[in-house]
Amino acid sequence: MSGLYAMGMILLPDAAHCVKCGLCLAECPTYALTGSESQSPRGRIALIQALDRGQLSPDRHGANLLDGCLLCRRCEKVCPSGVPFGALMDRGRSRLRPFLPMMEKFLAGVLSRPWLGRLLLASGKLLPNRAGAGYLAAQASLKMPKYRESYRPAAQSVGRVGLFRGCTSALLDAETLEAAVLLLAQAGFEVIVPAAQQCCGALDAHAGNAPRAAALMLANERAFTDSPPLDAIVSVASGCGAQLNDYASLPAPHEDVCSFLAREEVLPRLRFRPLKQNLAVHLPCSLVNVVGQEQAVLRLLGRVPQLRIHEIGQRGSCCGAGGTASILRPGVARALRRPLMKEISELGPDCVVSSNVSCRLHLAQADEQGGRRYLHPLVLLAQQLIRE
Ligand code: SF4
Ligand code: SF4
Repeated sequence: MSGLYAMGMILLPDAAHCVKCGLCLAECPTYALTGSESQSPRGRIALIQALDRGQLSPDRHGANLLDGCLLCRRCEKVCPSGVPFGALMDRGRSRLRPFLPMMEKFLAGVLSRPWLGRLLLASGKLLPNRAGAGYLAAQASLKMPKYRESYRPAAQSVGRVGLFRGCTSALLDAETLEAAVLLLAQAGFEVIVPAAQQCCGALDAHAGNAPRAAALMLANERAFTDSPPLDAIVSVASGCGAQLNDYASLPAPHEDVCSFLAREEVLPRLRFRPLKQNLAVHLPCSLVNVVGQEQAVLRLLGRVPQLRIHEIGQRGSCCGAGGTASILRPGVARALRRPLMKEISELGPDCVVSSNVSCRLHLAQADEQGGRRYLHPLVLLAQQLIRE
């Protein structure tokens, strides 16, 4: 990949795949909210083409239109021409980075460095007191979880997997990482957690910082290459998984952790205690539209006897969290979340699970009085696990 390509200086070849059929419009949440072509996938592609042809100059207005995309990539999934919308949008933002909101660049720089994000979130000084800022601050603590580099399998070893921590999960979702280690070890796998691994790079890529996203990719590839041989590299947050899927040379295939645990040869090694509860399952857009391993979550949860599973939301639609959108675009984030919260309120589940940390926090924030838990599916599974 040439530097110019990565920096968004060459956009036309990818954009040229778009035949302007408009099939993506009905799928786009920002178009549904605004009814404006400029807030649709087709409109954003047209903007990129105008920029590339020199018909428009980069400016704050154009940056704002590209930045309004939630990167749910639902448009990419339905596009008959195979426009690589996610990559195109990241590179378009790279081109317009000088005009992107300062807060977005700041958030990407801070949250992708867990020690810095933890310090600032925990001190409550990271963000203006709006949207999810206060709620996020309340979730973080100054205590940095410590991970060993290697965890032994619970019984006879059947293989070895690498666990990708992710910066936001390490910052706000340590219980999910602990659950992942427990379940993988119980299934007979040694779990390697390379200390040198970094943020996946998604935050920087979406904030138009292509050089740092590329540097993080290289650092992670090196960290896992320096590990003992691995059967797979698993991630817990589907937002990270979407980014890891695009890595050039990981030493083992990347897989969402639920998909790995739901493999035919792995699943029978896990047994769960019954749980007589109603469970609402939210399947994040990153898991459905990009990682494409959402069935595995339902298959895994289906192993818990007596658990009544209800999928909520329109599969593949964005809940409004959209990376940092819940903080930077609170109006849009709340509008997209509203139908989901209505569904949750009508269903009255005991618990809600979602495979992406930012979706889970975004939903939980709107239901602080509901008295129900919002978890990663792995946490619920680990709680019900029969340890042998
Ligand atoms: S569906 Fe694809 S080809 Fe059609 S307008 Fe949307 S991006 Fe372009
Ligand atoms: S990625 Fe999602 S929000 Fe962005 S243009 Fe496509 S459908 Fe719309």
